[in-house]
Amino acid sequence: MLSVVPRPVVVRAPSKVNLHLAVGDLRDDGYHELTTVFQALSLADTVTVAPADTLTVRVIGDDAAAVPTDRTNLVWRAAEMLAAEGGVAPNVEIVIEKGIPVAGGMAGGSADAAAALVALNSLWKLDFSRPDLDAFAARLGSDVPFSLHGGTALGTGRGEQLVPVLTRRTFHWVLALAKGGLSTPVVFRELDKLRAEGTPNRLGTADELIHALTTGDPHVLAPLLGNDLQAAALSLNPDLRRTLRAGVEAGALAGIVSGSGPTCAFLCADAQSAVEVSAELAGAGVCRTVRVASGPVPGARILDNAAKG
Ligand code: ATP
Repeated sequence: MLSVVPRPVVVRAPSKVNLHLAVGDLRDDGYHELTTVFQALSLADTVTVAPADTLTVRVIGDDAAAVPTDRTNLVWRAAEMLAAEGGVAPNVEIVIEKGIPVAGGMAGGSADAAAALVALNSLWKLDFSRPDLDAFAARLGSDVPFSLHGGTALGTGRGEQLVPVLTRRTFHWVLALAKGGLSTPVVFRELDKLRAEGTPNRLGTADELIHALTTGDPHVLAPLLGNDLQAAALSLNPDLRRTLRAGVEAGALAGIVSGSGPTCAFLCADAQSAVEVSAELAGAGVCRTVRVASGPVPGARILDNAAKG
């Protein structure tokens, strides 16, 4: 019998911004109870998987040097998990092309893990269902299920229990990428510390924001964006205040720290305004680099499905 070597599979996975991120109390398992509304953005990573003699991970693109290529990379864990569940050997070369800032609060590692699950399910012809992949994703990390799903969604629990949120039209964003990253656990600990000292206030429910999304009007949405982690990120990196101010002065409707930061996300009135805000922000010297993005976009998707044939 002729054995056919499967062709590489290429998957693109989106970044995310939290439009609403309410952090509740610390649970017994060490996680905080979250209520969050995620939106998947067009700034993305690409993951390519190809058959190999052994499991290897290579990282190229922006920030590549900051990403581990050993078993601490989330894609390595995704490959070992899927191989064990599917009863195959995890012999694959995984190439990650980073577009999402590393440790930037935009779920870059989670996007790569979601992409690896989708790509390897196809390469190894495992036929795991979406609910199976969701369960594997939740074991890999709190944000991985959303990276699989994309769109706009309400997340509860650790953020892994998802319900889609209806949105009208595309929203236009400018992202200010910072020099260096912030560690998510450190930002949560800083919030616990600030709360123990009596500051800051907690976000209310996401109801008004969810309603604003159905209007499709960024002017209605802008004042409702909120992130309980922002105070902690600003406490750890006070320069971000200047970045947030500069984006609004450049014409954005609102600016927030994305997730645990330090990326700042600016909601703009339309695509043209986003280009103008990005140009002005790039010249203001308040961040490492600037990107324009839009959302919602789909979750991890195969770009080249030759492996299916
Ligand atoms: P989140 O928004 O989900 O809290 P983040 O976007 O702030 O995460 P990541 O880019 O996912 O942060 O990276 C956090 C850390 O995880 C990095 O500092 C890096 O050491 C490690 N890491 C493991 N796998 C990856 C990966 N595939 N891409 C980026 N970082 C990874």
